[in-house]
Amino acid sequence: MNSRKPFVAGNWKMHGDRAGNERLLSALVGSADAGLVAAVDVVVCPPFPYLAQAAAALGRSGIGLGAQNVASWENGAYTGEVSAAMLADLGCRWAIVGHSERRTLLGEDDSLVAAKGARALGAGLGAIVCIGETLEEREQERTEAVLARQIEALAPLAAQAREEQFVLAYEPVWAIGTGRTASPEQAQAAHAFIRARLAAVGFAQAARLRIVYGGSVKPSNARSLFSMPDIDGGLIGGASLSADDFMAIVRAAALAEG
Ligand code: PEP
Repeated sequence: MNSRKPFVAGNWKMHGDRAGNERLLSALVGSADAGLVAAVDVVVCPPFPYLAQAAAALGRSGIGLGAQNVASWENGAYTGEVSAAMLADLGCRWAIVGHSERRTLLGEDDSLVAAKGARALGAGLGAIVCIGETLEEREQERTEAVLARQIEALAPLAAQAREEQFVLAYEPVWAIGTGRTASPEQAQAAHAFIRARLAAVGFAQAARLRIVYGGSVKPSNARSLFSMPDIDGGLIGGASLSADDFMAIVRAAALAEG
């Protein structure tokens, strides 16, 4: 049993409207008892326009609020961008950076991801930094090389990243939204590799950092994934849109013997 507190975040992506969010948020708050949120760091990441709604609905429930993205600039003439300071001002505690959808669809590269991570940390937000290989890269046995490259780019964050504030999300691209999950053994091997690489590039705190898995996590597979020694929770996409499924995954994190 390691001493890392499990971490489970829901990435709502570009889903929701005010009425649906209200129902989802009140169901989450209703089932997040004090014991559960003390045992697991639980975070929801709605789209930007709904962050204020979510901040008000989550109140003192113990469920944290996160954004799905953050600008790499501090402030200024950057039309359409949202700064880390604005997110902190709205009550966010976390920002996801480097999600594979942004890397693939919006061309975000390793250095931009690191710059966004630095902005988040600099504004006092936690950073949930996503890395992971594509199916083609896995089939070409390049998984470790890709992860090593993505981690190397994060080296400038090592001194800034306190263990409560920095979460690495291993999300194999082939498992995101596909219903195809990495096996617990495949995910564990990647997580152990990631932890070792983080230490190698200068994260002296690597043993204490949470490394969470993302990619078609569901109530039915969460416990076996989270019971692996280097898997400290999950980043949840589709299943985070159902309060029952998301909270079942949170409970699995609380019960896992990782
Ligand atoms: C994600 O988008 O981060 C994700 C893991 O999605 P899903 O759970 O739907 O695969």
